[in-house]
Amino acid sequence: MSHIINVPEIFGTDVFNEATMQQRLAPETYNAWKQCIRIGSPLPLEVANEIAEAMKLWAIEKGATHFTHWFQPMTGITAEKHDSFIAPTGDGRVIMEFSGSELVRGEPDASSFPSGGLRATFEARGYTAWDPTAFAFVKDGSLYIPTCFFSYTGEALDKKTPLLRSLDEISREAVRILRLFGDLETQRVKVSVGPEQEYFLIPRALYAQRLDLRLTGRTLFGAPAPKGQELDDHYFGVIRTRVSNFMKDLDEQLWRLGILAKTKHNEGAPCQHELAPIYSEAGNACDSNQLVMEIMKKCAAKHDLVCLLHEKPFAGIAGSGKHNNWSLCTDSGKNLFKPGKTPRQNAQFLVFLAAFIKGIDEYQDFLRSTVAYAGNDHRLGVSEAPPAIISIFLGDELTAVVKSIIDGTNYTDPQKSLMRIGVDVLPSIPKDTTDRNRTSPVAFTGNKFEFRMLGSSQSIAGPNIALNTIMAEELGKFADILENAEDFDSALQKLVCDTFTEHQRIIFNGNGYAEQWKQEAKQRGLSHHSNTAQALPTYVSQKNIDLVTKRGIFTESEFRARYEIHLQSYKKIVAIEGRTCVDMALHQILPAALHYSSDLAKAILDKKALGISCKTEQALAERISTTCDSLYEKVTKLSEKLRFIPDDTEAAADYMSREILPAMESLRADADTLEQLTDKTYWPYPTYSDILFY
Ligand code: ADP
Ligand code: MG
Repeated sequence: MSHIINVPEIFGTDVFNEATMQQRLAPETYNAWKQCIRIGSPLPLEVANEIAEAMKLWAIEKGATHFTHWFQPMTGITAEKHDSFIAPTGDGRVIMEFSGSELVRGEPDASSFPSGGLRATFEARGYTAWDPTAFAFVKDGSLYIPTCFFSYTGEALDKKTPLLRSLDEISREAVRILRLFGDLETQRVKVSVGPEQEYFLIPRALYAQRLDLRLTGRTLFGAPAPKGQELDDHYFGVIRTRVSNFMKDLDEQLWRLGILAKTKHNEGAPCQHELAPIYSEAGNACDSNQLVMEIMKKCAAKHDLVCLLHEKPFAGIAGSGKHNNWSLCTDSGKNLFKPGKTPRQNAQFLVFLAAFIKGIDEYQDFLRSTVAYAGNDHRLGVSEAPPAIISIFLGDELTAVVKSIIDGTNYTDPQKSLMRIGVDVLPSIPKDTTDRNRTSPVAFTGNKFEFRMLGSSQSIAGPNIALNTIMAEELGKFADILENAEDFDSALQKLVCDTFTEHQRIIFNGNGYAEQWKQEAKQRGLSHHSNTAQALPTYVSQKNIDLVTKRGIFTESEFRARYEIHLQSYKKIVAIEGRTCVDMALHQILPAALHYSSDLAKAILDKKALGISCKTEQALAERISTTCDSLYEKVTKLSEKLRFIPDDTEAAADYMSREILPAMESLRADADTLEQLTDKTYWPYPTYSDILFY
């Protein structure tokens, strides 16, 4: 039974988007809304009332009975609470109502969302406010209103608010630079983001049998399957029917929600896949990515599959990341990271490039700390993901340009000694050759930067806030210098040359997986934080606090609250993993191995009575028994350690990384040995082979 989809017809049908608003609102209302988002002012109540009424009618036609303020609390996932449209008429019947004030403002009981100490206990309330730049949509019988979430005192409690603030900031500073290059038209510079989402799909029935997957999203035990990904037969391989049915279904749902699902393919590891949308404005990309992750999970369930978004569901094979493609674009659609055709355009490109290089170098730790997350620790630096050291890959052509500027030589014409910025033309920089170094955490890919350190389950807000803020800061400093220059051209030449010279250490085109790189990076003075416990504390360095407060992205208390929440999340995640390890070891692994070895012992007695040799049984029973002894000792140690987790979150994070995780690893080694020694019929849960090669 083939199901034909008319894509243009269904695309965005579940979104109260601009076209629908234009169609359904009175022209004055529509124009008033447009005006409000253009200048960023609040909607007058009459306008909100009109929009709410139109939205309600539209949503009811789409089958909605409820509405919800949808927001992105600091947990990194989304939150929603549904209210029906019903209002009693007094005669036992109801009508459907939805007012402008219900549209623009909500008051969820926020006491259970992490606030990192921002909200005093006596003021548990939080408020949600419609972000009128984001369109409402209908899903699962509810009208979803994308909102920002903040406290009684006005402090941001979500991921969206600081992201929006950072977008204003980068736009303002980028426009200043454009003015210097004679662009008088651009009013707004937008951030384009295309997040490539990796994920695993495994059979639901197998997932259900593993406590670790159910409770932690990853396997805490499991001997490697005899086959991994060494044959490279999964990457871009033929997609199996069950998975392609899932993908079809997923695409359709995403398209209905106006999400530009574009590319889908099998990824490197068995059972691993990727979905990439066409890039969109950062705020929208962030909302869309949250929906993509959520719908992937729900859609998988419909196909008897489970979607794992964890960064490292299986040891020994590739984990999942989320490449964050990032660029800047004017409101008339000009990409500011695209090397131009004229010397003037190239000069402008070099200014943006220099600001980016300087910013990444100066704020390496900030960017690194935004991807510090328990799940991501198993991935960064593990030879399939970028290393935990930040560097920028520019590709040969662009590196040669940078080098010629630093050395004062000419790239295109060796006869001339100096490459004069704004006078000479850059060599053409091919889009594709630049993309081949997969080991770099930040790669220039022709007209955008690809930031590859983000974990698959993480919100894209964190690194984008950092990238935007850092870039705004550097562009602002550049604008200060250039606006006050007596001679623009020579100031420009000097600025770009000095910046490249001072910050060239961050450029690295070589193999990021090589052991040598760690040494070299150290010599270059680059930071290397190999795990969350090390990386997170740098988040709240004075330098970063100064940056984010000066730029108005966070108040100091908002910023510190986030730090607290990230530390807590790390502590809680590792503690849950630790307890799950103990549970499985004591209640599943040990009993299975003991059962098998005692059956072996019985067989040995039987055989001995008959005078039959039983060397194999004896050797096996011996190995299993000693491994069980060792495992039992390790479980005892781990449970002991879990009882002494420090209260202080910073100390706890350190303790988790130094004590708990190594104890879990060591326990796992014994468990995996037992798995390999024990008769499969005794083994209590599906193995890597069962799951990955179903
Ligand atoms: P690859 O796997 O080679 O990195 P993909 O096609 O999977 O390439 O993903 C590239 C992503 O980059 C897509 O989401 C695409 O829309 C996005 N992208 C392309 N151009 C830009 C741009 N100028 N700014 C931001 N993202 C972009
Ligand atoms: Mg990519």
